Amino acid sequence: MRRHSAYPLAALMFAGVFCLGLGAKALLAAVSQQTRASASGELDLVAVRSDFYMIAGAGGNVAAQLGPAGVVLVDTGSAPMADAVVAAVKRLTDRPIRYVINTSADADHVGGNEKLSKAGQTILGHQGSSGVSEDVYTSGGAASVLAHENVFTRMSAPQSPFPFAALPTKTYSGRSYPMYLNGDGIQVMHMPAARSDGDSIVFFRRADVIVSGDIIDTARFPRIDVAKGGSIQGEIAALNGLLEMMIPPFPLRWRDERTYLIPGHGFVADYGDVVEYRNVVTIVRLTSMPMRAAVSLSSDTARMAVPTRVRITNR
Ligand SMILES: [Zn+2]
Repeated sequence: MRRHSAYPLAALMFAGVFCLGLGAKALLAAVSQQTRASASGELDLVAVRSDFYMIAGAGGNVAAQLGPAGVVLVDTGSAPMADAVVAAVKRLTDRPIRYVINTSADADHVGGNEKLSKAGQTILGHQGSSGVSEDVYTSGGAASVLAHENVFTRMSAPQSPFPFAALPTKTYSGRSYPMYLNGDGIQVMHMPAARSDGDSIVFFRRADVIVSGDIIDTARFPRIDVAKGGSIQGEIAALNGLLEMMIPPFPLRWRDERTYLIPGHGFVADYGDVVEYRNVVTIVRLTSMPMRAAVSLSSDTARMAVPTRVRITNR
């Protein structure tokens, strides 16, 4: 296993974190399963719950909650991968995409907004009907796209590379935006001044799954963009906030009962993983390591992060 020479402590901690509790045989099996899925040209589908999937390999991770109303997506991957994400959703269900939530304005998370929303269908009624939300009129019948207002501001700026059709159709300000879809209470929560000034995390309360966006990236150190309003203090506060929402598998450690977290990149994490990630970020802060020189992990180390608790499906 190669380690980043400049930050042996952090790299060691990362390696230690992700290897904890993973049997080598199971780990290798998980890795080879994932490699097979990738070789077929399709995106990987990771079953986090029976009706909750992570779609990996399209840029940033995409989360998909399935239910009677259709599909709720968190992030849409990069633009060149949008068709592949549409195909991956169709492998999961025949029901339409109904709602998209963006965790940031980063191109690897919002690049598929236009295609994914147009492949879907608004949940709020038919265009032109009376008494429904303004979403219907702004999205033209496509699935709504929700983001923090600072994401909209950034994506609609004069120099923005994003077309109008990729912009969020609904924004929120303040601390959070709650909604109820597919029988689950969904809290979209702003994490101020973390990686940027527009980061959201999405907490699915019944599924007990949190989608963190790039506030957590299990393959590398978080990229804090100070020019876009990010700060290391805000990042650490966001990680502590996530931990307050997460429940570890105590006291029945052997059971598969815990809060799962889908990171912006990398593999599904649980409470212990996030504690270690928070600790590494805090140690790097305390020892004044330069933020721009992010800890990068070798691909071998990143692959070691495949958890055995969730299965990669060929669905
Ligand atoms: Zn990303």
